[in-house]
Amino acid sequence: ERIEDKLYQNRYLVDTGRPHITVRPHRSPSPSLLALTQICPAKCYEVNEIGQVAIVSDGCLECGTCRVLCEASGDIKWNYPRGGFGVLFKFG
Ligand code: SF4
Repeated sequence: ERIEDKLYQNRYLVDTGRPHITVRPHRSPSPSLLALTQICPAKCYEVNEIGQVAIVSDGCLECGTCRVLCEASGDIKWNYPRGGFGVLFKFG
């Protein structure tokens, strides 16, 4: 079975209005912030029309990659979703 099929089986509950990851406002993105647009497995990060990195955290797999890369620098703020929200992994 392909990983995409497996991922599709995960369910995701969006905590509307309370995104668990936010990107610090910036004029131009740092290299590590820009890298997130390539390496986030859920493709949550995008370069918007004015060249800034934006996130839509719906679908985030909570893998922690962006946290490791960008939280210490303050480029992003990262919290686990509130209980009951976020990704619900289905195993098997
Ligand atoms: Fe993407 Fe992982 Fe960061 Fe979620 S935690 S936004 S899946 S890199």
